Order: sequence, then C-alpha cells, then structure tokens
Amino acid sequence: MEKQLRVMVVGAHPDDCDFNYGGIALQYAALGHKVKFLSLCNGCYGHHVMTPKETAARRYLETQEAAKVAGIEYDVWDVDDCTLEANLENRKRLIRDIREFQPDILFSHRPNDYHADHRNAAVLVQDASYLLIVPGFCPETPAMRKMPTILYCWDRFQQPPFQVDVVVGIDSVIDKKFEMMHCHESQVYEWLPYSHCKEHTVPQDKSKRLEWLHGKRIDREAAPDDNYILTTVAQNHSEEDEAWLASNYRKELIERYGEAGRHIHFAEAFGGCEYGTLLTKESIPELFPF
Ligand SMILES: [Zn+2]
Repeated sequence: MEKQLRVMVVGAHPDDCDFNYGGIALQYAALGHKVKFLSLCNGCYGHHVMTPKETAARRYLETQEAAKVAGIEYDVWDVDDCTLEANLENRKRLIRDIREFQPDILFSHRPNDYHADHRNAAVLVQDASYLLIVPGFCPETPAMRKMPTILYCWDRFQQPPFQVDVVVGIDSVIDKKFEMMHCHESQVYEWLPYSHCKEHTVPQDKSKRLEWLHGKRIDREAAPDDNYILTTVAQNHSEEDEAWLASNYRKELIERYGEAGRHIHFAEAFGGCEYGTLLTKESIPELFPF
C-alpha cells in the first residue's frame, strides 16, 4: 500500500452506507485503508411493529454488527428519521465530524434522491465541502488543508439522470456484503419486505435467511428490461442493484478490468460531485486502488 486512504461514507439511515458502499468498503478495509460509515439519522421509524425508541436502539446495534463484519467504524447521529434538516447546526456538526476523520474521499447520496433525509444528507455534505478548509468557521476543530474528493452513490433517479464515473466489481466480496446486510435484520427481513408487501416471502427459520437474501439477489442477475428504471424508481434499497449495475455498466467494467470485466456479476457505481477536490482520470486509480 503506497498510502493509507481515509474513506468516509455519509448515509441518511443506518443501512444506506452498507447497501450502497458495502462492496467498496470491504475492499478498502481488506487493503488496510481506514473506513468510517456515518448515519445521520437513527433509523427510528424504519419498522412497522417496534416503537421508535426500540427501533433506534436495535438499529444502532445492527450497525455495530455490520461494522464488525467489515472491520470498519460506524457512527450514528441521534437524529430521528424524517427530521434531518440541512440547517446550520447540522452543517457545523458534520463539518466537525469530517474534519476529525480527515477523509481523502467522501461518499454520500445525491441531492435529488427520493427521501427527504437522503436529500438533506446530500445537501449537508455539499454545504460542508468548501467550509472544511475554512479555518475561521468552526475553529474549535482544525480545518483540513485539502477538501476530500466527493462522490455520489448510484441511484435510479432521472431528474437529472445519474452520471457514472467509477464502476467497481465487487464479486470477491459479495458474500461478505450479504453478511453485512444480514446484520440489518430489522431491515432486510422485517421492514423492507413489509414495506414492499413481501413479508410472507421471508423464511421464518432464521438459519435460512442469509441463503434467502443471497438467492434473492442471484436470481435477479439477468439484465432487467427497459421499464426497469421507471417501474422501480421509487424503491430504494432494492435487492437487484449490484447485479443490475454489472449488466448495465459492462462497457465501463471492461474498460476498468479488461476482459475480466465481461465476467463480473456484481458492481457498485459512483459519480463525482462538482464540489470538493475534483475526481480526475489520474485520481481514480489512487482513490480506488482495487
Ligand atoms: Zn435511507
């Protein structure tokens, strides 16, 4: 390793980071780079049975289990779901957190994502970007000398459509990514199936659940039809993303990995933000060293 990278992922809810960046987080961590996930909301409304307090407590524990699987750090702010605001207080709080971690690369949602918390998380990251290097603002936490490179995680939203700059194959870590998602039990086996009216498909036998989660993704490896984007636009956290990305961005995978790119089954995709230190052709291999 030429240089240890510091990689920070800012998600809105305690599973967004895992779903969107679990594959690259595992690859960074395996190479000895330092990864931190930060969820700005506590996940309290992500359940249909438990109280918000019970849900937030359980979801925090789930983040810590996922962090153990990946060998990363995972923080959660004490902000209730659906209440995250891109206000001055949160801007300062995020600036302090980012400055303390000193990331080289920072990932978050796009500001035209479907959930208000995702949009506000994105705006908070954008608002923080330049201020990270302004010493007079939040002077109690020393300013960074250089802004991190900021990237958005892939999403399906079309107004405007996603601009992809980096597509990473994650086949070598897909099983471990399932293990990370498996830790978010209240989500992947309870709330998300319930919210899609699919709760009856989840095995009651807990020992069969990881296999079910795995099978559900493998089954959907085939490229979806042209209506895919439109018909699924409202469903974030979908199970087929990694397989669909590998099919849809085959050309980019071949450019990155040569012939091996033809045989990649699962991928994650990212697009550079115009704020922060710009992503360039030269910086991509340094920032994505796998
Ligand atoms: Zn979310």
